[in-house]
Amino acid sequence: MRIILLGPPGSGKGTQAQLLVQRYGIVQLSTGEMLRAAVAAGTPVGLPAQDIMASGALVPDEVVISIISDRLDQPDMKNGFILDGFPRTVPQAAALDDLLKKKHIKLDAVVELRVNESALLNRVETRVAEMRARGEEVRIDDTPEVLSKRLASYRTLTEPLIHYYSERRKLLTVDGMMTIEHVTREINRILAAIGAVEPKAAAPKRAEMAARKTAKPVAKKAAKTAGKPTRAAAKAGKVASKGSKKAKKTARKTGKKAGRTIAKRGAKKASKKVTKRRAKR
Ligand code: AMP
Repeated sequence: MRIILLGPPGSGKGTQAQLLVQRYGIVQLSTGEMLRAAVAAGTPVGLPAQDIMASGALVPDEVVISIISDRLDQPDMKNGFILDGFPRTVPQAAALDDLLKKKHIKLDAVVELRVNESALLNRVETRVAEMRARGEEVRIDDTPEVLSKRLASYRTLTEPLIHYYSERRKLLTVDGMMTIEHVTREINRILAAIGAVEPKAAAPKRAEMAARKTAKPVAKKAAKTAGKPTRAAAKAGKVASKGSKKAKKTARKTGKKAGRTIAKRGAKKASKKVTKRRAKR
């Protein structure tokens, strides 16, 4: 499985990436983590990145592209990977397309965690409080002021990627406002729907089932994806997330369209048969 997790800071990308790593034994490639490690080690990449990161701005595209390119060449990539925090700009996405093409790697999907921005600040505050309670060091860019800047940069530089990947039929959107367990389940479900993972591997584990039994139902049965999920609809990335009416509608439309195409093809075949039979006579 090779996927990109897309979402603003605080949307839960890191948490979901770790859960996917545990479940599927793939590697998480987080440019933020790699850059923090470079800063801590005082490498030539880390030193200039330090101030940029502390301010909430993005480090130059060429820096992260070269980090990712090197990382994709490592042998542990063969089972698959999750890109978390990369790409973050359209030029980074275009560079990634080139890299993957050159390295003969196929991207399965881009999973977007859609969240309500006003809730993000609360999430970050909670995360900081929890980290402090555990005695962990809090990230320098985890303050409300820096978060606002990171959100602004997400909106202007990263959000265009939603359109970029949607046009390339890679985008799958999940409602990131659900509980962690529900988001995980939804991600697993859509990854199974597009064939990126075995349905068996994506099925909820016992612990998750137990957690779900005690949890309140959040929404009705997920997006009756594309009426009956045709491969075309699933592949088109129209697997709607729970509660996303628009996505559901689009998915149904795509499903119908696919159905229509199949029906048309069927009709053509039938008429060809008739013509053949007539010719025989
Ligand atoms: P993250 O842990 O993904 O929130 O990233 C932390 C910081 O690292 C960001 O605010 C940026 O300064 C920098 N960074 C991480 N990934 C990228 C990227 N793909 N492009 C540019 N800067 C990045």
